[in-house]
Amino acid sequence: MAEKGTGAGTATKRARKAVAVDPGEGTVTTTAPKTSKDTVTGPHGAESVDPATLPVRPGEEPWTRAEVHELHDELISELDRLRSEIDAAEAAISGLMRDSNDGAGDDQVDAGTKNISRESELALANNARDSLAQTERALGRLEGVGFGTCESCGQAIGKARMQAFPRATLCVQCKAKQERR
Ligand SMILES: [Zn+2]
Repeated sequence: MAEKGTGAGTATKRARKAVAVDPGEGTVTTTAPKTSKDTVTGPHGAESVDPATLPVRPGEEPWTRAEVHELHDELISELDRLRSEIDAAEAAISGLMRDSNDGAGDDQVDAGTKNISRESELALANNARDSLAQTERALGRLEGVGFGTCESCGQAIGKARMQAFPRATLCVQCKAKQERR
């Protein structure tokens, strides 16, 4: 008999309005004093590189501007590729974590498979992060100093090798020595 509940639901309406006006403290503009300078690719570009400063091995032609551009572009697109690889791996990892958290009904094989794929996604993400760091350093050297110079013996790494492995920091000989250790 006490049928008074039919009119409910009107109360929800008033919750909407309050959002429109922001209290005065909302100076939410870019108060970012330090973050901006950390972008590794920086304001430079291939134009900032003087091809004449890049070392070559005896018998190699000097670097041309076109070759510098090509290599620079390659490094930039490698950065993009690695960043999206990392994003994808991280998304996959958090997806797998979510699955394993609410996966109460998993049998053991299932859970094991998920562990394995999580490990491999983690490994993938870590590798990609390493490569990303190396690529960023290579780009930094190209735009700054040291690109193409062996970090161990100080000789030219060689144009051909740098074009094949833009992230190389050692000449072939020093690399071979390092791997033998
Ligand atoms: Zn060397």
